[in-house]
Amino acid sequence: MNNWLNNFIRPKIRSLVGTQKDVPENLWDKCPSCDNMVFNRELADNNYVCHHCDYHMTISAEDRLALMFDGGKYTRHKNKSVPADPLKFKDRKKYVDRLKETRAKTAEDDAIIIASGKIGGNPVVVALFNFKFMGGSMGAAVGEGIVTGAEIAVKTKSAFITVPASGGARMQEGAISLMQMPRTIIAVNRVKKARLPYLVLLTNPTTGGVSASFAMVGDVHIAEPGATIGFAGKRVIQETIREELPEDFQTAEYLLEHGMVDMVVPRSELNAVIGQTLSLLMQTKLSDNPKGKKSKDNKKSDSSKGAITVASVSAGGEKMSAADAVNQDSAAASVKKTA
Ligand SMILES: [Zn+2]
Repeated sequence: MNNWLNNFIRPKIRSLVGTQKDVPENLWDKCPSCDNMVFNRELADNNYVCHHCDYHMTISAEDRLALMFDGGKYTRHKNKSVPADPLKFKDRKKYVDRLKETRAKTAEDDAIIIASGKIGGNPVVVALFNFKFMGGSMGAAVGEGIVTGAEIAVKTKSAFITVPASGGARMQEGAISLMQMPRTIIAVNRVKKARLPYLVLLTNPTTGGVSASFAMVGDVHIAEPGATIGFAGKRVIQETIREELPEDFQTAEYLLEHGMVDMVVPRSELNAVIGQTLSLLMQTKLSDNPKGKKSKDNKKSDSSKGAITVASVSAGGEKMSAADAVNQDSAAASVKKTA
């Protein structure tokens, strides 16, 4: 970064506080959307959403789990192990070496995390992608994670939520990675057969083989504002069909307008909105005061009595409250039941 903050303010702070070591290097961040400078600690307090333009930045897997579950409390589950590198694949590096390096860097086994806890008081199993692990790419281990998560959900009569953040299939596993597509579909169908809700929280980015399988067959699709969701990239499609595509093509908002997504929900309202959706689908008592991790969010839901009015989502260009959206979903669900 080369700007007045680095060139002028930071040396000034250093000269005031003494040694260079005392000033952390990454005190400020630049918003990739509006280019404003944001103070790192404030950014963390605001769930990594820009104060200036509401841009939803990348959030770590741990932080996301903490903000999704009630009180930030959840239990992690071990994934079953899968054969590593069955194809003995090598590109610029050997796949086994790439795996070893990424495992050391991320302290995770693969790109999927299975966790269980409560959301809005409802029992939930979450299978969440860790984008930091090889771009959240889906290989055998990720497929296994979705299967394991679905199995735990059925066994414990919990709702199942997948949270994709993925570039698609893991090319180092070739056809084996593609086999995870039907496999994960079968896994989430088991959850549906057990009459348990299956929700998808689409985060930035959800693309390729992930968007072409379990991520598009949820009972309810929730997306984060501005998230890129699509199969092939915009440029590839444009070159194939030789047509200009709209500016907001493959964004969460575009998909909401065109019926692929049911709700676009800001990060700070995820716990409340998912909690209420699940309460309606699972017919449990609506939680009066769903508690997120951050005190700020708690205050918000306290003041809004049951948080049913907290979220507002836009549908077809018109503002609609999340409560309306949830009611519509539950109406749709009951129609399905009676049909
Ligand atoms: Zn911004």
